[in-house]
Amino acid sequence: MHRSACRILLLALLSAALPSMAIDLARDGRALVRIAVPAAPVRLEKMALSDLQEFLGKMTGARFEAVAETELPAGEPAIYLGWTRFAQAQGIDAAKLGKEEWVVRTVGDSLVITGGRPAGTFYAVWKFLNGLGCYAMAMDCYSAPPRRSLSVPGLSVQGRPPFAGRLIYNDFPGAAMAGGMPADLQEQYRLFALRSGTNGEQTHRQKQYYYGDLFNISTVPFHHTLTLYVPPKKYFATHPEYFAMNAQGQRFAPQGFAKGSLCMSNREVWKVTLESLRSFIRRDRAERAKEDWPVLYDISLLDNSPYICKCPACTAISKEEGSECGLLLRYINYVATEIAKEYPEIIIRTFAYSAARKPPKKTRPAANVLLQVCDEFPQADAFRPLTHPLNAHNLASLKEWAATGARIQFYDYWNISGVYFDPPRWETVLDALQPDLRLFKELGAVGLFVEFERDHVSPQPFYDLAYFVASQLMMDLDVDVEALVDAFLPAYYGAAAPVMKMLLAEMREGVRKQPTKMAIHIGGAWRYFTPENALRYYHLLKAAAASLPAGGVHRQRVESELLTLCWAVLARQVTFGPVFRAGGVSMDQLVAECEAYARQHIMRIKPANAKFFLDRFHQKFDKIKAVLPRPAKFKGVADESFRLLAFPQASPIPNIHSEVVDDADSITGKAIVSHGPSKTANDHGVGKMIQATPTIRVPNLKFVLGNIGPKHDIKPGTQWEISTVLRKVHQDEKYHWYKLRGAVDLQEKSYFWGHAWAIQFKTNSVYVLTDGVADNNVWEAWFSAKFTGPAYVPGSTRPDAIYVDMVALVRPGAAGVAPDDDALSQAEPTVVKPPEFASVPDGAIRVFDVRAARPIPKLCTEVVADRDSATGKALRTYGPAGAKHGFNVRVPGQQPSTKFCIGGANGDSMLILQGLEDNFENYHWFRMKKPVQITAKSYFWGFNWALQFHPRGLYDPKGTAEDNTWEVWFSVKFTGPAYVPGSTQKDAVWIDRLVFVKPGLMK
Ligand SMILES: [Zn+2]
Repeated sequence: MHRSACRILLLALLSAALPSMAIDLARDGRALVRIAVPAAPVRLEKMALSDLQEFLGKMTGARFEAVAETELPAGEPAIYLGWTRFAQAQGIDAAKLGKEEWVVRTVGDSLVITGGRPAGTFYAVWKFLNGLGCYAMAMDCYSAPPRRSLSVPGLSVQGRPPFAGRLIYNDFPGAAMAGGMPADLQEQYRLFALRSGTNGEQTHRQKQYYYGDLFNISTVPFHHTLTLYVPPKKYFATHPEYFAMNAQGQRFAPQGFAKGSLCMSNREVWKVTLESLRSFIRRDRAERAKEDWPVLYDISLLDNSPYICKCPACTAISKEEGSECGLLLRYINYVATEIAKEYPEIIIRTFAYSAARKPPKKTRPAANVLLQVCDEFPQADAFRPLTHPLNAHNLASLKEWAATGARIQFYDYWNISGVYFDPPRWETVLDALQPDLRLFKELGAVGLFVEFERDHVSPQPFYDLAYFVASQLMMDLDVDVEALVDAFLPAYYGAAAPVMKMLLAEMREGVRKQPTKMAIHIGGAWRYFTPENALRYYHLLKAAAASLPAGGVHRQRVESELLTLCWAVLARQVTFGPVFRAGGVSMDQLVAECEAYARQHIMRIKPANAKFFLDRFHQKFDKIKAVLPRPAKFKGVADESFRLLAFPQASPIPNIHSEVVDDADSITGKAIVSHGPSKTANDHGVGKMIQATPTIRVPNLKFVLGNIGPKHDIKPGTQWEISTVLRKVHQDEKYHWYKLRGAVDLQEKSYFWGHAWAIQFKTNSVYVLTDGVADNNVWEAWFSAKFTGPAYVPGSTRPDAIYVDMVALVRPGAAGVAPDDDALSQAEPTVVKPPEFASVPDGAIRVFDVRAARPIPKLCTEVVADRDSATGKALRTYGPAGAKHGFNVRVPGQQPSTKFCIGGANGDSMLILQGLEDNFENYHWFRMKKPVQITAKSYFWGFNWALQFHPRGLYDPKGTAEDNTWEVWFSVKFTGPAYVPGSTQKDAVWIDRLVFVKPGLMK
């Protein structure tokens, strides 16, 4: 029996290897064959039949009739579609094929098109049609090359998609539903989604015809799902220990699907999660037909959560694993392993990103765990392949995951929409697609989730082309991309195809040649997008559009490309405007064109609620078309020496509470306002520090104009970034100009920022390409700011807030800037040499006051007013709760409480104080035991870590060891009974100054 089975298999293989001759399907618009169908096709097989009939019909003009296989007369050639007896008799056992596997084979003068269930036969039809030049290119664009007589060569094709999960998330169906796209177009989209071969879910608002197993997910949302399994509403009040602990030792409840996590070392959490999972599976199986049962459940980290849990038990595991991913995987593995005992087919998907970005040292995911690994976009250049040297960091990270042998789905980002495409740019990701998708396959990915949101109001150039090529590649990594481009352009743009091809070729070449990394969220300047080239592209596109019939879809699509081009020019009108005006194109004309093209682009999908999209358009566009008034202070400056950034360039960050608001106080009518990252009084006030990142604190009133990214050489006499820290602000709650010190040489990626990162203005609109030759990007800068609330203005009843309405850039030395209101902005007082050091020459001493202090609120350290200090201020610590004070006692960390240190190239220099000579609660000067050779990282600390001074600018990178060697003195005050017997003050240590003196000058 075995032997005969082998024989049949062998025969089948032989017939596969030797396909029969070409067969004729149609002649002169008449079908020569009928389509034989089995008795009980499934839904997608019925749709396969209708697509086959429709597209063969479109090509040939013929009608291809369907006939039940059982009624087909013996000997009549046919196209056998689906699970036919004929196919079975040929040794094709479709029941044994994969769910998406296809077979297309000629047998004699008949053709077999079949595949596994549910999707194999449908994909087989489209594989067959693709071979004839028929493609689903966009929801409203198909190609079906006319051939009144059609014959196909002998075929023997069997295959399946290289990835089981294929989703290019375009954000289209969700937005289109929200905007009221009519039912017939909704249906068009659903058909396109199926025909394009993608198999993922985009939104619950629109159910697609088919989802692959890796995307058939029953929960809402699809990602960031931890709280579905352990709901805070149900558990937080009674079991706060189920949830993450923060660095301050407090448990906190996540907010929706973000900002929080679970305590993943808690076994009760494991059990609750498992129980929830069981209940979801039971619910799905009760509610759904068997073929619709999900096999994948997502249990993944919430969004915007930089860590999982900081409780001691979780911390110990994360430390042991070298990554919080180990903590996550121990939890996930338990759930996955337990559920596999009951449901061996179930897959548990989780995110390896954010806190879990790094592979753990020990734990490997269980066999039924699918890891979604992100190609994190802030570091990536999405336009060049991951194998490009600029993407080495991201590639290494993906390879590290692949090397673990985990089952992986890659989560990638292309040039996504919205704030990431604002202002729009002239660019394409087309040439990164094939190399990256091949790479993902080589790295063992079983699924892909790509974020490639379509920008609904300023479409990314050639968006539909990139989507089409990518969807084809996801079905076959070896398709000929250039052939697809050549098929697409005439189908999509009609007679404009040659012009579009030329523009596309120039854009692709420019992307290839760009020497710098182009991260999507920064949106830098492409070298090829010069004013002169942009003007040429504009004229080419205009002429191409004009050559097409008005009102036709081809013209509309060319004009949608023009929309983005014109917008990209307007965003740079300061530098592009003169060239366009010289070419006879005014900025007003571009504004009018943008508005007309945008309306047309939006209306192409006939939304019942066009306002939904028009509002988005105006929100994004109106700031670009704004004509800003020249501030009085700069009225005298020549046009070529002046640039202004205002609300059109403002880039607020809502999750740290900054926004653009109407403001009648501003001459522009709007400003960006920062309410403060934590929205508390801690965020505001002069002389305060503010948390910029979980690890970095910066002065509250530091404002910077500077470059982002790897440092390049800059021009002599200029700086990489210029800044000021305001020591005083105007008290009238009105706008005033403040100056940044120095001149900056702006690079392709730069920003103005302040109040940590909450206040931002993009500067890419003023950057010009000079290849580093001219001084066109060298600027001095002022910003116009208003400070409100009691933190700045005593007695104010307004909320604490910082407003910035304008940033003015002026060429260094340009005439015509009116004097500053007063010297407030320069108000960095010099530090006075303490009288105790009067004998030391000025050049041999450096004095630092509390402006060099780095308070740590967690350790109860703050900068406070102190009349005892000659400077009026001191850095004070009470120590964390329960801290021990006194001489010869140890604070937590086993350090003597009165030990003071400074690090240097020659080791730490320190001093442990044993007592005071006079027992007065006043400042005393002490000298550290030995001189220290200062490095860029040297800083002073005391009371364990609570008292820190960072003497920035002291280290001289060009200096010798001797130049950098200093004696160190500090001025300290001890208060409270632990230090001064009988004191009624609270125990505390205060430091007001740190002094560096050349060795040997002080006794
Ligand atoms: Zn924990």
